[in-house]
Formats: sequence, structure tokens, C-alpha cells
Amino acid sequence: MAVAPPGWYSAGLRHIWLPYTQMKTTPPPLAVARTHGSRIVLADGRELIDGIASWWTACHGYNHPAIRDAVRAQLDAMPHVMFGGLVHAPALTLARKLTALLPAGLDRVFFTDSGSVAVEVAMKMAVQYWLNRGERGRTQMLAFQGGYHGDTFATMAVCDPDEGMHSLFAGVLPEHPVIALPRTEDSIAAFDRFLDQHAGTLAAILVEPLVQGAGGMLFHDAAVLRHLRQAADRYGLLLIFDEIFTGFGRTGTLFACEQAGVTPDIITLSKALTGGTMALAATIARQEVFEAFWSDDPLHALMHGPTYMANALACAAANASLDLFAQEPRLAQVAAISAALADGLAPCREFPRVRDVRVLGAIGVVELDRIDAINALKARFVECGVWVRPFRNIVYLTPAITIEPDDLALLMRAVVSVLNEQR
Ligand SMILES: *Cc1c(COP(=O)(O)O)cnc(C)c1O
Repeated sequence: MAVAPPGWYSAGLRHIWLPYTQMKTTPPPLAVARTHGSRIVLADGRELIDGIASWWTACHGYNHPAIRDAVRAQLDAMPHVMFGGLVHAPALTLARKLTALLPAGLDRVFFTDSGSVAVEVAMKMAVQYWLNRGERGRTQMLAFQGGYHGDTFATMAVCDPDEGMHSLFAGVLPEHPVIALPRTEDSIAAFDRFLDQHAGTLAAILVEPLVQGAGGMLFHDAAVLRHLRQAADRYGLLLIFDEIFTGFGRTGTLFACEQAGVTPDIITLSKALTGGTMALAATIARQEVFEAFWSDDPLHALMHGPTYMANALACAAANASLDLFAQEPRLAQVAAISAALADGLAPCREFPRVRDVRVLGAIGVVELDRIDAINALKARFVECGVWVRPFRNIVYLTPAITIEPDDLALLMRAVVSVLNEQR
């Protein structure tokens, strides 16, 4: 019962370059007609339950009416205006709301248009923080194995080197130390030793708190973050938390840093910020960081400003999304999803090729020894009516926080039955 693809598909496909894709060998992408709730409707009429909420963005499900209405109203008033010398209600309201939700002290919001750029801005802030204070040697970030902070050149340099990009772009990328997270006796000793020797060259420590997402959905304890905070304080370094993935309820609290009781000096947010509707990111700094830029010297200013900075439509979407967190029981829903994931994915533990099953908040991970035929695995999930995107050696679920229990059950059943075939 094959349905011919729509005309725009056949006519446009040869002109598009897809993300993270070997274009020669990749199976053709699926044509999407529309979305609703936790569903992706394909052009041929099939409907997939989305297990990953469009790269972790669509936290309230797709097409939430509150966000849609807010964007529509903003579109009538003003889709965008430059942010140089001009400000507007959606951006200032969002800055006020974000700083009210974040731990006390994170007070100044710099808006950008993607996660990678938000991290670049955080790195730039950290380096210039020292320059403005007259310290010239502090240019490095201390980053961690398993980490992922984006795809732009500066952020590639602080990703896990095993991603291959470090070696591929050797000599092109700036070099930053990337070491093991201090989580075992040995790695704590190595971390402490590293700081003893090199703290004077560092501007900041950069980490994804509690969960390293794109690096493999790797979890670590809150104690690790407290160790980082103590070390940063001991050596006077800035601590940057990249909560682009973990922010907005994903780990069970609104922000992951809350679970450690640790406040970073700079935090980055994006992904679920607009509820999965528009591109927007934010880098939020403590007052003390901001004050290093506060000067009569124009060279002490933060020289950065994306053209679409603080886009009004995106800020309106983000404001509506934050209102939903206030009005609807999102964190209770995350807790319910968490319990369901722990239960529903548990049968995978019995499978011979499964190395680990782990759950935190609305993140469920099945780690295999390896995945050989990843395209075939992806295709099996589509056949089962679910959108699940395994990568490296993991299959994971990060559904919309609003997913219906029946849809979540179907997702988990698909994961269990498809992985049961991997023997
Ligand atoms: C996705 C992600 C980024 C990059 O965000 P983009 O919007 O894709 O540039 C950075 N850090 C973390 C932790 C992410 O999950």
C-alpha cells in the first residue's frame, strides 16, 4: 500500500544536506505532514509516537494551544525587532521569569539563537571575565569526557575527544583539557592533581550537570557537582553548567543543579526553552560575572550580538512555555514518567546484549554492548509505530512530559520487543 511521496519531497530532497548523516548511505528520511500531542503524522498517513520529543525540545507535546496562541498574538504585534538599543516586553519578561526560576544569584540573561552559541557566549564571558580583571593567562576551559556542548568550532573543542572531531580537526580546534569527571577515588585524585598543576591557565570548568546527553546519556551523582563547585571556589575558577538538555524538568527538578544544591556562575539553556517551537537559547550569569564587564572602558563590554537575538516570537513562545510549567503539574508528570520508565524498561535487563538500564526523571536509557545495524534498528522502530533514535550503543526515551500513559506504554513495549530481537 505504498503511497507516493509528496511532490515537494521528490523535488527538494536532492537539494538538502541532512544533519549527522552520511548522505550516500543513509536511508531516505521520512516525510512529515504535521504533528500533534506526542504524535508525528507522516505524509503517507502513518502516525508515529515520538519517543524523543524532537531532540528533547517539545516538553509539552507538539502544537500546544497556549504556545501557539502566544506566538500568533506576538506575530500580529511584532515578529522581530533588532535587540541593539531596543528592547521589548517578551524578552524582558522572559529574562525576569528565568532569573526568578533559577537559583538565586543567576541574574543576567544574554539571549542567543542556538545552544552551541549559548555555550560559546558562556566561554567568551568566562575568558573575558579574566581579561577584564587583568589576568591574561586564563584562556582554557576544563571539560569532561562524555561531554557534548555543541557543533560549532569553539564548542567542538570541549566535547568528548572520542567523538572523533578532535582528531579530524586537529590543529584547527582550540585545545582545551578534557578529563574524567571526578566520581571515583582515582578520578577525583586525578582531577585534584590536574587543578593543582593547571588551575592558573583555566578560565572555567564546564559540565552538563547530572546527565551528559548527546555523549551517551551518562549519569553522574550530585556529589560530582559539589566537588566541582568546591574546586572552582578553591582556585577562584568560574563554574559553567550547560543545562541545554537537562533544563526544564527533564531530570525531575526544573533545573538539574537544584538536585546538587549547587549554583553555577554561568548557566546555558535552550532545547525545551520554547517548548519545542522556536530556536532560542540563553546564557545566564551571576551578578559577579556581569560586574567584571561593568566599566567605563568600552573594551570591557561583551562584544557579541546575534542578528536574531531575543527574537520576539521565540521569547513569546518561551514565556508561554514557562507559564505552562507554573500552571500544570509538569514535575509530578516527570515523576510519573520516571516510575513508568523504570518499570517498563526493566525487562530489557534480561537481554544478553544489554549492559545497563537506567532512568533519571523523564530519561530512560537502555545501553547495549554495541549496535551493529543501526539503520535497521531505526527502521524496526518505525515499523512498530514509534519514533526512537538510537545512537552509538544506546536506545533511549525522552518523551514529552505530557505524553499519555498509553502512548508511553506503547513506546516502552516497542523498545522491549525490538531489543528482544537483538540477540
Ligand atoms: C543540544 C545541546 C547543545 C547544542 O545546542 P544546539 O542548539 O544544537 O546548538 C549544547 N549543549 C548540550 C548539553 C546540548 O544537549
